[in-house]
Amino acid sequence: MNSPESKVTNASLFDRACELIPGGVNSPVRAFRSVGGGTPYFVESGKGAFVVDVEGRKYLDYVQSYGASIHGHAHDDVVEAIISAARKGSTFGAPTPNEVVLAQLLIDRVPGCEMIRLCSSGTEATMSALRVARGFTGRNKIVKFDGCYHGHSDGLLAGAGSGLASLSLPDSAGVSPSSIADTMVFEYNTVPTLDESVAAVIVEPVAANMNLVLPVAGFLEGLRAECDRVGALLIFDEVITGFRVGFGGASKHFGVTPDLWCFGKVIGGGLPIGAFGGRGEVMSKLAPIGPVYQAGTLSGNPVATAAGIAALSLLDESSYLMLAGRSKALGEGLSKVFSDVGVNVVVSVFESLLGLFFLDTAPRNYSESKVSGDSGLYSIFFREMLRRGVAFAPGAYEVIFPSLAHSWDDIEWTVDIASAAAGEVAKH
Ligand code: PMP
Repeated sequence: MNSPESKVTNASLFDRACELIPGGVNSPVRAFRSVGGGTPYFVESGKGAFVVDVEGRKYLDYVQSYGASIHGHAHDDVVEAIISAARKGSTFGAPTPNEVVLAQLLIDRVPGCEMIRLCSSGTEATMSALRVARGFTGRNKIVKFDGCYHGHSDGLLAGAGSGLASLSLPDSAGVSPSSIADTMVFEYNTVPTLDESVAAVIVEPVAANMNLVLPVAGFLEGLRAECDRVGALLIFDEVITGFRVGFGGASKHFGVTPDLWCFGKVIGGGLPIGAFGGRGEVMSKLAPIGPVYQAGTLSGNPVATAAGIAALSLLDESSYLMLAGRSKALGEGLSKVFSDVGVNVVVSVFESLLGLFFLDTAPRNYSESKVSGDSGLYSIFFREMLRRGVAFAPGAYEVIFPSLAHSWDDIEWTVDIASAAAGEVAKH
């Protein structure tokens, strides 16, 4: 116990955390190492667009749990749903009604997705989607794209973005060569030529783990056609884009229908969740009706599903218009403040995802995005923003996530702060 005089600070907590938890954090990017090190702020609480750290400092938060909190933090309806679900028991190991309700909500919103299975994280969703794709096709190879992150299962830790990108680890130690032997990595935005050994192509339809890289015209359509040509399945990893870039996610937005989808983040209302789904014929390969095993003690958890149902039920077409409008304004504001101080930036905006690049033109793949990440300018900008009370993600390959709780005033204030921060960047 702390004595009344010994105040808990970010530094004291981080010191203790570093002794107890590797790097002091439970997910690497949080440790600030990708932005030059230092002490991360430890969040005491969050409400709406803001978080407050253990020292009482308030930050306008654009991390928003890396996109999980589309309504901002602790939305009253979501909190109520969590409390009333928890009162009835938090896990049973038997099916619960909310699993059916959430599955229906997801299927209703995503054209072509006929069956869903819930799990507990995005990592599980992508790992399981690949397994079912292999089980369905009877093939082994999978194709992914350099800089796309699909969670941390062994077979997908090749050419991954996100924290791995910013830590400059091309791969991870501890992944056996045999577990990635069937993973082929290609450049994003170029349709590879496949053959009949490929079980599935997995892709972020809008890449949001190598900073924000949009699909060029024809890329997603080209993948669909190439998969069809060789009989491979197309998997859209919509863990970030699902229910964020519009009511039906990226597949609906682009009018390209994959065979399988992976979801997470938004669909759990801020609680741990994942889901994968697709055509009935493919999903029917899953145990107990098919030969592909997949399971989870906490899968379909009643508290997480209650939070997810509450979060999704609050979203309608107007929510997305509002989010997109504010995100666009934020993007324009950020572009302007940098151009005012003579620093070349490109701000890519796709619905409510923003990517800030210290480049002249928007990147089309990870190699191009890396030029911005390697410049070190994002780290300076990040620190100058944080110092002034605006929290962007502590990594140059993460995106900026405005939430529905970010008001016009918040956006304006962010741009004001960015103006001062951009001035500091210009000195480097
Ligand atoms: N896929 C994508 C596109 C992601 O962005 C992430 C996490 N940021 C994952 C999968 C893995 O999800 P989780 O962290 O919930 O395991």
